[in-house]
Amino acid sequence: MEPEQPAQRFGAHPAALTASAPGRVNLIGEHTDYTGGLVLPMAIPFQTNVEIAHAADGMYTFHSAQFQESRVMPPSDQSPAAGNWSDYSVGVLRELQALGVRPEPFYLTVDGNVPLGSGLSSSASIEVATAMALLQHTGKHLPIPEIALLCQRAENVYVHSPCGIMDQFAITAATAGHALLLNTRDLTYQLLPMNTGELAGCVVVVVNSMVRHTVTAGSEYAQRRRELEAGQQVLRERFGVRDLGEATVEQLLACAGAMSAESLKRCRHVITENGRVREAAEAMTAGDAKRLGELMTAAHASERDDFECSVEEVDFLVDTAVQQAGCFGARLTGGGFGGCTVNLLLAGEADRFTAAIRQAYQERYGITAQTFVCEAAAGAVERAATAGSDVTAGTDVAAGRADQL
Ligand code: ADP
Ligand code: MG
Repeated sequence: MEPEQPAQRFGAHPAALTASAPGRVNLIGEHTDYTGGLVLPMAIPFQTNVEIAHAADGMYTFHSAQFQESRVMPPSDQSPAAGNWSDYSVGVLRELQALGVRPEPFYLTVDGNVPLGSGLSSSASIEVATAMALLQHTGKHLPIPEIALLCQRAENVYVHSPCGIMDQFAITAATAGHALLLNTRDLTYQLLPMNTGELAGCVVVVVNSMVRHTVTAGSEYAQRRRELEAGQQVLRERFGVRDLGEATVEQLLACAGAMSAESLKRCRHVITENGRVREAAEAMTAGDAKRLGELMTAAHASERDDFECSVEEVDFLVDTAVQQAGCFGARLTGGGFGGCTVNLLLAGEADRFTAAIRQAYQERYGITAQTFVCEAAAGAVERAATAGSDVTAGTDVAAGRADQL
């Protein structure tokens, strides 16, 4: 059967509204966003597009253009996660409902080109695009941090994926041409131009290993978090720090005997990573591509050896990248256990670099890596503003409140 389209369903007056959200790549600051640390992502030029129209059938319908599948429910629906793509959007609806929003019946279609399950955060992209569309549909407004937190809750609570706040925040708040330095404890952030000094001549290249160790990723990630949180608890008790974002390596070493060897390594990664993000922000501000690249490569070593979330294929991509002319640094980006690397290099070397990486990877593993040369793209809020849309998020960074709805 042909998939139903909103226009077919609602006749001549679909009155569709649209919202879109990008993907993101994290330049540096991995596994720091659930322990009050720092991250430095940028939005990338892929997008999830959500179209929403009033529905005459009294139902909420979620339709995926890519999966050619619909999920239909009455507004009173309380069904648990379906275990598929629709959960990300339904989770957002649930969180809006928890804030007292009661959307009129709608037909919502999701389409997009953010690579799925590759560490470029298609999940946060679909969540944020859905939230922006539903807000538009209901004529409600929320500040940026509230949208990001709501989408994170959707993923944590409804999808049961224990992600931090980075992805949703970056995808909501990013600005074209900038990276976003986010303090995940208080959600204050700074937009850092990516065209200062030597960086003006650089590009960011994302290389998708096409490998995802899904069997291990879920359980290993949860295990890493448990080890990290156990170590953090020891530091809290001993030094009164609020979280690892405030702890120092000296404090950690003083507690070495009170935690497992695994907790020590996981915490060392996070504490040193926060230091690298601070330095990376300074390097970016100074336009120092060499230093920024060194920090990225050091971050990879820490992910590989201390957080132990890399895999052989990704290590190969990083090792191969840093040997290429014009490459300042490379690292695993995203949660790990496969996914993508992020590489900083001279723009003029991009074609030669991507060809060399693809060839080496093909020869070694028989896998064709995808490569994307990325400029820092606009976030969902900036896109909405550029489109002249009525969808708005407050632009102040103070914590939002539910009563603003
Ligand atoms: P990542 O966020 O790294 O891309 P995740 O596993 O967290 O990987 O999320 C990917 C999932 O998000 C997809 O398998 C799908 O269920 C959902 N998703 C993301 N984008 C879309 C889209 N455009 N249409 C339908 N589902 C999507
Ligand atoms: Mg995701």
